[in-house]
Amino acid sequence: MRLQSNIVVIATRNEGKVKEFAKLFGAKGYKVRSLADYTELPDIVESGKTFAENARIKAQIISAHLHVPVLADDSGLCVKALGGDPGVYSARYAGEEATDADNNAKLLQALSETAPAGELLSEAGHPKLLSEASFVCALALIDPVANEIIEAEDACRGFIIGEERGESGFGYDPLFYIPAMGRTMAELTMEEKNAISHRAKALRLFLDRLPNQTD
Ligand code: IMP
Repeated sequence: MRLQSNIVVIATRNEGKVKEFAKLFGAKGYKVRSLADYTELPDIVESGKTFAENARIKAQIISAHLHVPVLADDSGLCVKALGGDPGVYSARYAGEEATDADNNAKLLQALSETAPAGELLSEAGHPKLLSEASFVCALALIDPVANEIIEAEDACRGFIIGEERGESGFGYDPLFYIPAMGRTMAELTMEEKNAISHRAKALRLFLDRLPNQTD
């Protein structure tokens, strides 16, 4: 398999993400651009029922518009005691304009209304664990000219705790506790988070599936 060009557009305006991707893709012979390099992009409605569907929708619409390979991601939090919520609604759980604080408050409220997960409550040395949870990340690259799609998805498992801990990261990180580290995601350094996060794991899988541009 071979992509039509050695340029991949990352469907994000987040400079941090672009730098991280540029380094990893550079090692495979690709150059990275981001949405910040383009004007007049189409609107995207993330109407998928899964992370993978949403990543595919974004990659599909933007690659059809730009005629170059586009990599899109979608991610979020799935909480077992809430039947997998907030899932694909993670960013807008508490409403379209919700802040991280609004979403975290809504998550704790929703968990307070569910039956306590009895078997999780007595883990010695850990804070009170309210539910198992996973951060999930799906990636999809679509090459509209070579008609290729490469996908990858992975997860980072942990537990939701009853109060926020830590100042790093973003989103639900302060409520996401990882027993093996004895800390929440928001108490990890960026390097530590990047070693275990759902995004890092999905990206590693994805890079294994991406052909070297020189192959
Ligand atoms: P997006 O895929 O960047 O749109 O992320 C969707 C939402 O999922 C974010 O707004 C966060 O609420 C949540 N989320 C995704 N990744 C993380 C993470 O690494 N930490 C905390 N929250 C996350």
